Amino acid sequence: MNRPYTIATLGSHSALQILKGAHDEGFRTLAVATRDTERLYRSFAFVDEVIAVDSYSEFPKLIGELERRKVIIVPHGSFVAYLSLEEHKQMTIPYFGNKAVLDWEASRELQREWLTRADITMPRQFKTGAEIDRPVIVKLYGAGGGKGYMFIRDAHDFEQRSKELKKAYTIQEYIIGVPLYIHYFYSPLEDRLEIMSMDRRYETNVDSLGRIPAAAQEGMDVSPSYVVVGNQPVSLRESMLAEALRMGENVVRVSKEIAGPKGLFGAFCIETIITPDIKFYCMEISARIVAGTNLFIDGSPYSYLNYSEPMSTGRRIAREIKNALLTNNLRLVLDDGSVL
Ligand code: AMP
Ligand code: AMP
Repeated sequence: MNRPYTIATLGSHSALQILKGAHDEGFRTLAVATRDTERLYRSFAFVDEVIAVDSYSEFPKLIGELERRKVIIVPHGSFVAYLSLEEHKQMTIPYFGNKAVLDWEASRELQREWLTRADITMPRQFKTGAEIDRPVIVKLYGAGGGKGYMFIRDAHDFEQRSKELKKAYTIQEYIIGVPLYIHYFYSPLEDRLEIMSMDRRYETNVDSLGRIPAAAQEGMDVSPSYVVVGNQPVSLRESMLAEALRMGENVVRVSKEIAGPKGLFGAFCIETIITPDIKFYCMEISARIVAGTNLFIDGSPYSYLNYSEPMSTGRRIAREIKNALLTNNLRLVLDDGSVL
């Protein structure tokens, strides 16, 4: 079954999953890759076309050509990492998602307002170093995969290390618990929220510090870093699933109040830490497909409950676009600014 549309994305992050899903749903597929990665994307039969650029900063130059074709862009984390917010917004190629959500996601303050209105608990935020009265994590702005984040013990520690901070940052209470990234999909066509899968990240070096006894660490001058290198699957204790669903539903409901009637739709992720009293703290929300879903290209235990066939988040996105096409509802799943 061939559809006249091509689903395209940047060659990184979750592109293989997105393009495999698009292919399985009958779309043509296109990867925009770099010279270093073009061979990788060409090596897969489900990638119909690869356009190679010297660097992703050249992507805006391709926009004219992509606009002339029936291309639909599925964004992922690399779009946020490599294109500016303005470039992202100005891109007029039909785009799966609602760009009005981008401002609410990009600003830590607006994110906090959104999540708080959704009745989701966030770690405390400190405005200045002097206010710090407990261990905190200092986070740089933008999707950097945890790069440059700092664990700070107290106000004195902050004073000593804050000169290392060259970019805008936020100071968040450090929550001691287990991280859990919950992947959702909200279908505007069906007005239905699905839990697709879950992961925990594998971060260097914080995930290896526990392997060295604390006593041996003394004097080693080692501080935790949070650079993500991969992901591990998790299934949640079933009695906690109801809360996961509630959080997702509230996020979608409030998004319709703050980011236009369409609100947040498609894939998104609530990044949580769960404490021993079984409380979910939300560190952040990601308003698109996250790379932790790559664990589930063949489906997850949760997606199997909804679909008795392999259903990755990438494929679910393509399925929504397909259903929108079949019911003449494409405008419901593409950004308002797009013209087809
Ligand atoms: P990349 O194209 O690999 O540089 O990824 C773009 C951004 O997506 C990174 O800066 C990370 O924030 C995020 N990212 C990439 N891969 C992963 C992963 N496996 N797990 C979590 N986040 C990721
Ligand atoms: P993020 O960029 O918000 O996804 O955070 C990257 C990583 O930093 C997470 O996977 C956690 O390991 C860690 N982290 C972020 N925020 C907190 C927090 N408030 N408390 C403890 N760890 C955190």
